[in-house]
Amino acid sequence: MHNLAPYAVTEVTSRGRQHHEVRPTGRSEFQRDRDRIIHSTAFRRLEYKTQVFVNHEGDLFRTRLTHSLEVAQIGRSIARNLHLNEDLVEAISLAHDLGHTPFGHAGQDALNTCMKTHGGFEHNLQSLRVVDQLEDHYGAFDGLNLCFETREGILKHCSLKNARTLGEVGERFLNNQRPSLEAQIANLADEIAYNNHDVDDGLRSGLVTLEQISTVRLFAQHLAVARQTYPAISERRLIHETIRRMIHTLVTDLIHETEKNIAAHAIQSLHEVRTAPPLAAFSAAVHELNQELKAFLRTHLYRHFRVMRMSAKARRIIGDLFQVFMEDSRLLPPHFQPQAEIDCPRAVADYIAGMTDRYAIKEHRRLFAVEEE
Ligand code: MG
Repeated sequence: MHNLAPYAVTEVTSRGRQHHEVRPTGRSEFQRDRDRIIHSTAFRRLEYKTQVFVNHEGDLFRTRLTHSLEVAQIGRSIARNLHLNEDLVEAISLAHDLGHTPFGHAGQDALNTCMKTHGGFEHNLQSLRVVDQLEDHYGAFDGLNLCFETREGILKHCSLKNARTLGEVGERFLNNQRPSLEAQIANLADEIAYNNHDVDDGLRSGLVTLEQISTVRLFAQHLAVARQTYPAISERRLIHETIRRMIHTLVTDLIHETEKNIAAHAIQSLHEVRTAPPLAAFSAAVHELNQELKAFLRTHLYRHFRVMRMSAKARRIIGDLFQVFMEDSRLLPPHFQPQAEIDCPRAVADYIAGMTDRYAIKEHRRLFAVEEE
C-alpha cells in the first residue's frame, strides 16, 4: 500500500485487535481481515440470502453475496482515487451484511419485532456480533478478531443504548464522532450498489418497466445518452449501458465532492476526519437525483405487491420460528443450547439470523408441516 493520504487508516496507527496476534507476513493487517471474512461461514451463507428477491425466485438476481462483491468493487475504486486504505474498504464492504437475516429487510423487521422486549435486533450490530463472537473457527478466540477500524466500519448505525455496551467500538456514537473515511466510503458504496442493482433486478423481473423508470431523471439522462450512442442495440444492452453510466456518475461525483470537503475542512489527520462533519458525500445536485431514484424504488419496487407478498411470507416464517423456539428451546440445534440457557431470545435470534432463505423455509416446514419428520 503506497501513496496513502495523511488521513487514511494505516496499520501503523491502527488501534489493533482485541486479542494480540503476531503480525501477518506477506499481507497487511487489513488484508488479513478481508481474508478472514471471506473464509467465514457467514460469508458463504450470503449466497443464499435475499437482497430484494427471495433466493429461489431466479438465478440472475442479486443475492447478498453478489451485492457485497459489488460494494467492495465500488468501494475500492473510490478509495484508490482518494488515496485511502483500499484493503480496509474492501474488508468493511465484504463484511457489512454478514449479520443480515434471511428475506432481506422484511426478515430484519420481523426479527426486530420478535425481539422487541428482549433488546431488539439490529442487523449492523448482528454483523459485528458475527465477527466478534459467533464465528467459531479459531483456537485462541471467538469470532474473527478483526482490527478495530474494520469493526468500527461494520457498525454503521447503532442505538445509544447498545453503544454503551460495546466498549471502544461504541464510543463514537456517544461522543458524536465520525468513523474513518474508509468506513464512510464503504457505507456510500453500499448505497450506490443497491440502488443501481435494484433498478437492474427490478427491470429484469418485470416488476418495473422501462417506461416507469424513465420518469427518474438520473436514469432518463443516461438512457438518452446510451440511446444516442447506440441507437440499434437491444433493450438488455441499453439498460446495462444506462446503469453503468449511472454508477460512473455517482462514483465520480462522490470522489469529487469528498475531495472538496476534505480540502474545505483542511483535513490532515485521521483524528480530524473523526471530529469533522461527515466528509464523504454526494454533491447537492447528485444527492437530489439519488433521492429521487430511491423514492422511485421504494414506491415501485419495494412496495410492489409481489415483493409485499414475499415480505408477508417472510414475516410469518420468522415469527413462527421465533415463537416455536421460545416456547421450547430444546428444539434448537445442540450448539445453540448452552447460550439459550443464558439468554434464550438472543440464542434464538442468532440462530434465525444465521439462516439462509431456503434454510428458513425448510426449517419452518420441518417444524410445522405434519408430513415432515
Ligand atoms: Mg448492503
